[in-house]
Amino acid sequence: MEKCSFCGREKKEVNLLIAGISGHICDSCITQAHEIIDEELKGTSDFDMSKLKLLKPKEIKAFLDQYVVGQDDAKRYLSVAVYNHYKRLGQGKNTKDDVEIEKSNIILVGETGTGKTLLARTIAKMLHVPFSIVDATVLTEAGYVGEDIESILTRLLQAADYDVNAAQRGIVFIDEIDKIARKGDNPSITRDVSGEGVQQGLLKLLEGSIVNVPPQGGRKHPEQKMIAVDTKNILFICGGAFDGIDKKISQRLNTQIIGYGGDTRDRIDKNNILQYIAPQDLKSFGLIPEIIGRLPVLTYLNPLDRETLRKILTEPKNAIIKQYIKLFKLDHIKLSFDEACFEFIVDKAVEFKLGARGLRSICEVIINDAMFEMPSEETKEFNVTLEYAQEKLSKSNLKRLKVA
Ligand code: ADP
Repeated sequence: MEKCSFCGREKKEVNLLIAGISGHICDSCITQAHEIIDEELKGTSDFDMSKLKLLKPKEIKAFLDQYVVGQDDAKRYLSVAVYNHYKRLGQGKNTKDDVEIEKSNIILVGETGTGKTLLARTIAKMLHVPFSIVDATVLTEAGYVGEDIESILTRLLQAADYDVNAAQRGIVFIDEIDKIARKGDNPSITRDVSGEGVQQGLLKLLEGSIVNVPPQGGRKHPEQKMIAVDTKNILFICGGAFDGIDKKISQRLNTQIIGYGGDTRDRIDKNNILQYIAPQDLKSFGLIPEIIGRLPVLTYLNPLDRETLRKILTEPKNAIIKQYIKLFKLDHIKLSFDEACFEFIVDKAVEFKLGARGLRSICEVIINDAMFEMPSEETKEFNVTLEYAQEKLSKSNLKRLKVA
C-alpha cells in the first residue's frame, strides 16, 4: 500500500502523494518541510558586511544634509558615531591586538519635532539596515501593565523580516527616553515601575547581551517560540525632549562660573542652553549613571527658527511641497506655489507654535479642497496664490491643528 514515508499516512488520507525512487511524500509533509527550510535559512543568511557601503563621516553628513535641514552639530556627532560603529562591525574578530572598540550608542536631546527621529531614520535608510522606532513611555518592568523591554527587539525583528542576522546589525530608535527618568532624586521610596526599573532593563540591551525575544511581541502569545537576539552590534539611538533640562544645565554652568572666575558668563549663549549639555545633566534629570555610560555619544538639536522652517518646506529631498507636486503630477496636474505662500505657511506655523509637524497640517488644510476636486476636472495646471492660501486657512480653525 502506498503511504507517505515521512508521516505514514495512506494515500486516501492525504490530498497528494508524490512518488520518489524508494518512497513517497504527502502534501502536508512537503509544506512542513518547506517551512523548516525557510526557518533554517533565515537564521543563517550571513549578513554581508561588504554589501554595507561604509561612507566616511563627511559623506554620511552630506547624505543627512539632503533630508534634514540644519542641526549641524547633531549631524557631525551622528556621522562619526555611525562610521565608528560600522567600522567596528567590519573589523569582526580578526584583530591581532587586544584593543576592543566599544559600541557608541547615541543620545539626542532636543525639543519635539526638531528632527531626532528623522535623523535616525535617514541613517538607517542610508545604510539599508533594519530600523525600528519604539516609544519608551510604553515600556514597563516585566510583570506590569505595558510592554516588556524585549518588545523593542520584536519590532526590529519584524523590520528585518525575521532575518536574525540582519536584525543584529540594525538600528533601534528609542523615543522619549526622558520619560523613563527616575521620578525625583530619592531612589525608590515607592516602586517606580516605569522609571528606574525600565532603565535597568534597558541597560541589558544597550550593553550587548543575548536576549530572548518573543517574535510576535507582547504577552498575549505565551506559547510562542522565543528567538535569541544578540544586541552587541545593534546601534541604539535614543531621543528625548528632556523638558526642563535647560535649568539643570544653567545651574551647572553657573556653579562652574563661580569656580573659575566670572568671565565665562559672557560667552554663554542663553538662547540655546542645550548646546552645553553634558552627561551629568542627564544624571540630574534622572537617568541612572549606568545608562548614561552606555550612551557615550551625547548631542543636541536646535529649536527650529523661521528660516529653518522655511527651508524644511521646500528643500529636503522629501520636502512636503515636493510631495504635493508629485501627488498632483500623478494626476497629470502641474502644481505650483507663489513664494508668498511659503512665507505665509511658516508665519502661521510660528504664530501657533506648531513647529515642523505643523507645516504639514497647514499645507493639508490649504490644498485639501484642490486634492478633492481637481482629479475629476479637466484643468491641468494649478497655482496656489497667497490669497487662495489665506482663504482656505481662514475657514479652518488653526488651533485645532495644534500638535502635542
Ligand atoms: P522629533 O523626533 O525630534 O520629535 P521628527 O524627526 O519626528 O521630530 O520631526 C517631525 C517632522 O518634522 C519630520 O517628519 C520632518 O518632516 C520635520 N522636520 C523636523 N525637523 C526637521 C529638519 N531639521 N529638517 C527637515 N525636516 C524636519
